[in-house]
Amino acid sequence: MNSPSPRAERPRLLLVGAGHVHLQLLRQRRRFPQAEVMLVDPGGFWHAGVAAGMLGGQHGASEGRLDPVRLATHHGVTPIRGRLVSLDPEAKRAHLEDGRTLAYSLLSLNLGSSSPCPPPSSPGPRVWAIKPIPRLLALRHCLEREFARGRSPRIVVVGGGASGVEVACQLRGLARRRGARAEILLVTRDERLLEGAPAGAVRWLMRHLARREITVRFGVNVGGHAPGGVTFTAADHGWGEDSLQWLAADHVVHAAGLAPPEGLERLGLPLIPARGLAVEETLQSPGSPDVFAAGDCAALMHRVLPKLILHDLHQAAVLADNLSARLTGGPLTPYVPRQVAVTILDLGDQGLAIRGRHWWGGRLALAWKRRLDRRLFDKHWRHQQRP
Ligand SMILES: Cc1cc2nc3c(=O)[nH]c(=O)nc-3n(C[C@H](O)[C@H](O)[C@H](O)COP(=O)(O)OP(=O)(O)OC[C@H]3O[C@@H](n4cnc5c(N)ncnc54)[C@H](O)[C@@H]3O)c2cc1C
Repeated sequence: MNSPSPRAERPRLLLVGAGHVHLQLLRQRRRFPQAEVMLVDPGGFWHAGVAAGMLGGQHGASEGRLDPVRLATHHGVTPIRGRLVSLDPEAKRAHLEDGRTLAYSLLSLNLGSSSPCPPPSSPGPRVWAIKPIPRLLALRHCLEREFARGRSPRIVVVGGGASGVEVACQLRGLARRRGARAEILLVTRDERLLEGAPAGAVRWLMRHLARREITVRFGVNVGGHAPGGVTFTAADHGWGEDSLQWLAADHVVHAAGLAPPEGLERLGLPLIPARGLAVEETLQSPGSPDVFAAGDCAALMHRVLPKLILHDLHQAAVLADNLSARLTGGPLTPYVPRQVAVTILDLGDQGLAIRGRHWWGGRLALAWKRRLDRRLFDKHWRHQQRP
């Protein structure tokens, strides 16, 4: 089915991706009374704030998940199950994976991010990416089955940033909750964990990991998979690939940062390598004033931002203003990133809160994170589920 061009008297606003930004926009449907609004997404919405807890078994799958089709319908937006594969920005047409073509007057892209992962080898360990978030649920179910059979899997977690640390701790929590054993090794190519965090917080974290029997290895640059494990080069070794080494693993979880989603280059829009779709401060794609992008897939041309939900929420407000301005001919507003007050890691049974040079680790930090995440979800997304 090809969708005809929007009727001349009724512009069409096409939202692609049911991410944290676009679900905010659904509530603001009334700000685009003159437009037909469509939301294209292949699956469901997962609130990233509960992703780590879902892996560790503290949150059920339903706790951070919403149905975009139901939400869109409730707000008078037409839902379309589908995946965008390419664009014709000149003709203002979006092509979906199943062959459908959608014409648009205004387009907004909220396509999220991916977690890069070298291809698996066969035979070889099971390989897991941390995005899309349902992969974490699949990992949990797979490990639970192994634990139930009495196995003690060897798990290598790649990445010494917030995600790698959270994933390693959650896996330990999952094993303990199921009364099982697992060998957990956290590896990073750097010489320390949590680049940029205060030294005291990192020392606290190292003690926390040691108490949970999580081994940490530094200077390990994982390059690929091999039968029974992963291959790596030592980061300080001058021989490059000639110094290939091997680590035993049954499962390898790649959590070494978030990258642009796959296939962005097919959209024919300007990109910033390794960061995503280039956007001006108005969130418009340079040279295509009717194409906007926000959230993890967007890369501000004048500033590098960490990929965080709070930035997404601020972008949603500016995006709504600017889409509305573009429809009515009003002036556009620049997006000015706000300071994120605090970041808190969910380590399963404890939290680690970091604010600039200050930090705080323990159960209260975790309770604080859970409360903030719950409030964020309830305030911005969950209530939309009500009929
Ligand atoms: C394990 C983990 C824990 C995290 N914890 C936190 C945290 O505690 N706090 C925090 O601030 N951030 C956290 N993050 C980061 C957070 O995930 C992202 O910043 C946030 O999810 C980005 O939201 P988004 O709106 O850009 O995209 P997403 O919410 O990822 O949504 C993207 C949407 O686009 C859709 N899509 C993708 N491609 C297409 C296509 N071609 N066509 C149509 N639809 C498409 C997808 O189906 C998805 O629905 C975490 C990330 C991970 C991996």
